[in-house]
Amino acid sequence: MQSDGWAPVVEPATGRVFAEHACADAAVVDAAVQAARLALDDWSGRSGTERAAALHRFADAVAAERETLAQWESLDTGKPVHVARRVDLARAEANLRFFAEAASQFASESHAMPGAIHYTLRPAAGVAACISPWNLPLYLLTWKVAPALAAGCTVVAKPSEVTPLTAHRLAELSAVAGLPPGVFNLVQGVGPSAGAALVSHPNVSAVSFTGSTRVGADIQARTAGQFKKVSLELGGKNAFVVFADADLPRAVAEAVRAGFSNQGQICLCGSRMLVERKVYDRFVSAFVAAVAALRVGDPLDDRSDLGALVSAGHRDKVLACIATARAEGGEVLTGGGPAEVAGRCQGGYFVQPTVLSGLGPSCRTNQDEIFGPVVTVQPFDGDDEAVALANATRYGLAASLWTSDVGRAHRLAARLCAGIVWVNCWMVRDLRTPFGGSGDSGLGREGGWEAMRFFTEPKNVCVAF
Ligand code: NAD
Repeated sequence: MQSDGWAPVVEPATGRVFAEHACADAAVVDAAVQAARLALDDWSGRSGTERAAALHRFADAVAAERETLAQWESLDTGKPVHVARRVDLARAEANLRFFAEAASQFASESHAMPGAIHYTLRPAAGVAACISPWNLPLYLLTWKVAPALAAGCTVVAKPSEVTPLTAHRLAELSAVAGLPPGVFNLVQGVGPSAGAALVSHPNVSAVSFTGSTRVGADIQARTAGQFKKVSLELGGKNAFVVFADADLPRAVAEAVRAGFSNQGQICLCGSRMLVERKVYDRFVSAFVAAVAALRVGDPLDDRSDLGALVSAGHRDKVLACIATARAEGGEVLTGGGPAEVAGRCQGGYFVQPTVLSGLGPSCRTNQDEIFGPVVTVQPFDGDDEAVALANATRYGLAASLWTSDVGRAHRLAARLCAGIVWVNCWMVRDLRTPFGGSGDSGLGREGGWEAMRFFTEPKNVCVAF
């Protein structure tokens, strides 16, 4: 941060500064929370139908600027524009519309017993803090903001300081959509000051955080004595398990997508490819050939499969992880270093998609989240070893299981430590399902009614007659 309270925003594809963002301090955060508090009674007192209409108008405003927002998302993150368009913008709009529908359908329960009836009121929890990371900026911010607003909370959002651009426009679009002043507030700033001040503010009742396990632990400690509602969506080290009876060409194609989408910077990416020994050599040679054929290039070029990593610091961290893997005895099967992209992207933060073999389950490369285009391949024999290897991390976010044996699919899905297990697919999402992980992957679930309920403070009323 500069001494004037502003910080540079860098385009990862070129390494050039293209903007500055403000760095909120505790006083700015306090003003945003007060604005949200002032707007709360009116917003939470509106009917679900009114809130639904406002969220649909919000979605309309985002849809009207889809192309510009996709360009900005790419500028901020380094991801190919076609990915921003297809993944980030499509999902941001879907999140707003999904929770608009949810607002109009949300219901509470009643339980009758002889001589009494109990019913549950679900008023809004209060002011919600929504903190998001840099990898899918609009997608993840709207995934929090939309259910909070639908449930009647007012929001103070803080996007990542690395990717402030589209969140800024989202705040402007909330006004275009006619959300009343104070209902959606945005503070820009760095985590240890703006983020920390926001989560520990006494007038914030619910904290919904997506980011690293390290920061999640800090937030849990910081809020421990305040008894707020806290939801933490954290890191992952996800297994992609392929049995010999799987449709191998499909498994290979999806493993490439799972490992390298968004430059491997999705919490749900498969970073440990576990392959039954009988087909290990076949799988690995097809997989490595497909990964080597991926095109790293200018995010503006629709032919680029991978763009730049989000920052110089993150590029250096990923390269250091590859160096650690080599030191641990790993063999680089493809990639293994920075990628050169000529022309306007010469100064960008590109890394080759990298596949490593020869590393055991307990080494750092197979334990620590790298969050970049780096995956390992490991062989296994039989169901028990597959489960043991897949579960051999502190994380429990996602797993992908490939087999044509239906019984095995069900048996193993129940044994894998993961909040979501995909069978013969990857990254298929239904927004109604509870989403989240366990262990170092976090606490709580987002999505569907789980998210709506998180942003309420239930109260039971019992009437005897
Ligand atoms: P990060 O934890 O560094 O930052 C996330 C957000 O928290 C940013 O807005 C940051 O400014 C803020 N922050 C930082 N310190 C804070 C503090 N002390 N108090 C409050 N806020 C603070 O994470 P990142 O590097 O932006 O994102 C990458 C991480 O996010 C990876 O670990 C990835 O797995 C995880 N992630 C998880 C999910 C999921 O759904 N489980 C989804 C996407 C990303």
